[in-house]
Amino acid sequence: MTAKPVATAARATVYGYPRQGQNRELKKAVESYWKGRATADALRETAAGLRRSRWQELVDAGIHEVPTGDFSYYDHVLDTSVMVGAVPARHRAAVGGDALDGYFAMARGTQDVAPLEMTKWFDTNYHYLVPELGPDTVFASDSTKQVAELKEALALGHTPRPVLVGPLTYLLLAKPAPGVVADFEPLSLLDRLLPVYAEVLADLRAAGAEWVQLDEPALVQDRTPAELSAAVRAYRDLGRATDRPKLLVASYFDRLGDALKALAATPVEGLALDFTDSAAANLDDLAAIGGLPGKRLVAGVVNGRNVWINDHQKSLATLATLLGLADRVDVAASCSLLHVPLDATAERDIEPQIRRWLAFARQKSTEVATLARGLAQGTGAIAAELAANRADLASRAGSALTRDPAVRARTAAITDTDGRRSQPYAERSAAQRAHLGLPLLPTTTIGSFPQTGGLRASRADLRAGRIDTAGYEGRIEDEIREVISFQEKTGIDVLVHGEPERNDMVQYFAEQLTGYIATQHGWVQSYGTRYVRPPVLAGDVSRPEPMTVRWTTYAQSQTSRPVKGMLTGPVTMLAWSFVRDDQPLGDTARQVALALRDEVNDLEAAGTPVIQVDEPALRETLPLRAADHPAYLAWATECFRLTTSGVRPDTQIHTHMCYAEFGDVVRAIDDLDADVISLEAARSHMQVADELAEHGYPREAGPGVWDIHSPRVPSVDEVAVLLRKGLDAIPAERLWVNPDCGLKTRGWPETRASLENLVAAARTVREELPAHNG
Ligand code: GLN
Ligand code: ZN
Repeated sequence: MTAKPVATAARATVYGYPRQGQNRELKKAVESYWKGRATADALRETAAGLRRSRWQELVDAGIHEVPTGDFSYYDHVLDTSVMVGAVPARHRAAVGGDALDGYFAMARGTQDVAPLEMTKWFDTNYHYLVPELGPDTVFASDSTKQVAELKEALALGHTPRPVLVGPLTYLLLAKPAPGVVADFEPLSLLDRLLPVYAEVLADLRAAGAEWVQLDEPALVQDRTPAELSAAVRAYRDLGRATDRPKLLVASYFDRLGDALKALAATPVEGLALDFTDSAAANLDDLAAIGGLPGKRLVAGVVNGRNVWINDHQKSLATLATLLGLADRVDVAASCSLLHVPLDATAERDIEPQIRRWLAFARQKSTEVATLARGLAQGTGAIAAELAANRADLASRAGSALTRDPAVRARTAAITDTDGRRSQPYAERSAAQRAHLGLPLLPTTTIGSFPQTGGLRASRADLRAGRIDTAGYEGRIEDEIREVISFQEKTGIDVLVHGEPERNDMVQYFAEQLTGYIATQHGWVQSYGTRYVRPPVLAGDVSRPEPMTVRWTTYAQSQTSRPVKGMLTGPVTMLAWSFVRDDQPLGDTARQVALALRDEVNDLEAAGTPVIQVDEPALRETLPLRAADHPAYLAWATECFRLTTSGVRPDTQIHTHMCYAEFGDVVRAIDDLDADVISLEAARSHMQVADELAEHGYPREAGPGVWDIHSPRVPSVDEVAVLLRKGLDAIPAERLWVNPDCGLKTRGWPETRASLENLVAAARTVREELPAHNG
């Protein structure tokens, strides 16, 4: 018998698939269970049905090895906490009472206990529940869920590969439990955690798993030598067991860097690497270490987190190079398909011309299978697919739908002065003081006021044709009048119109800009049962007409106090959308920035003296590796300045960000050259103010004094205490008084009471100021 060429074994696989089902059946089932309208058995049955159909879809697409255990009622990191027995003390009673209810208690909290904290999964918009660990954490293995799903898939005749969050990533994502000393390092628990992983692996082997995948995306971030050697120790240790399945360690979202060589030296049988975009350097790195002799390489060549068709020619070239670098090469999407919508063919309203450029989870699975077939049988076997792929790519590259010569001419003509205010900050601020005539410690809000049921009903009425556009706009104007009159009565200094016309701060603008398209069914899990439908940036961006001017000027017509115009900034407009992959992000951002610049200038021309450009996503979009930060921050800050620099010196530019930890971006925040910034600060007791002062931040700032994440009303005293703390760091001439964030999720009762207290506190503290008394 002659040895077969390696490629004949090439298999197609993916690491995870959307959980929700075509019509978000999972969301409905889980929420019905929460409301007591469906039994646990009904929920389990729906879930099992969804798992069956996901596997069938994958197999029908030509995927050989299907993932198991990636399905989740809520979150796979929470599932991992359950698997290793890391249940916080406050949830143990609930978990002991009923495993399912206990699970949801950890996810959502109950009347009496707080849930686990939630945060973003790397640089995606998926949120996971943060493991809470401490020196007293005792791990215990519970492989029930993993084993059950493996057996389900086996019984259906599939070739399953269980997927687990790897032990390093699990610990590196964890935080010290409340009450545990802050310098406790979860990674110090590695030796306690590994035996638990070994038990789970043994259980999976016993249940019939040949391979198990351990996801270690934390290793694509900058890691210390100690963390890297912990990784080596972990996989040496797990590799030593004799009753284990073969181990595939997967990484994605960026290059592995130093971790590649470290992992290659461990006894794991396979590595899965990302070879798309920012991770493409994995290819050279792999060659540099002499490949993975004796190991399986799973090549993530189809981008698992964008919505665009793959370039097959390019992938095949990558795969051809990889063939020489490992014992066996398989084909995959670069990461779990959890981050993309389910099926592009469901998008009947998208122009067919554009739809053929889109690939969601189903289409990506087919692409992976096609490439694996090409690799195994030669490109002749996929000639038809290659021809179609070439035609689709060519139609996109040459399409007038993606390229607008006027937009391109405009971005090409951008000069350095376009991104700079005509006067330096110090001179502007004097002009603004004269123009606005505000008191010390001016009060304002972040933009939105409560989005009441009435407003949502108006939007539904408009969609259903029960009211016409004029009727809808009348309702919006009623709301604006009410919001303005409340703010005047309460004594707020810089008013807002309240954003009643906006369903979402990105979608509202995306709907009005050319170049963006909306999906009908493009749901992506944000967290738990919350799904979002990000707009898609498909072509060159321009602004046919003003987007907010009429609402802001209407608000201004109702009051003699200054009204603040309100826009979403270019970085956030990209971060919460699917971006195009056929040009650098910075180019897309510049187009968005110019469109927003027109809006800013129109607002000013219409008499708006203060304009806020929100950039809550500035920090979350930071690349995973520090080496890539400067390039990102350069275009991000340039685009903010392009948006805001077309105005007169006496027009005041505000920005807003919703987080307290901004150490890594504080320089960039200064580079935005905004006159005023508002930030979240109430929970951290104004720590932000100290940090701004430490960095010598020279501008005006409003560290939030009301935590808007809960309905709790802060007292006048509490707010005054926070303001006095703020004054220790920021002089009175530069301190603003505002809530942490927008009020759209709050109700009117607490909004009224809290803002009244906020204004009263500002007045009290103003009177204590020397300027006031002297
Ligand atoms: N202006 C927006 C609002 O108030 C800001 C929201 C945000 O920062 N996420 O709703
Ligand atoms: Zn905010």
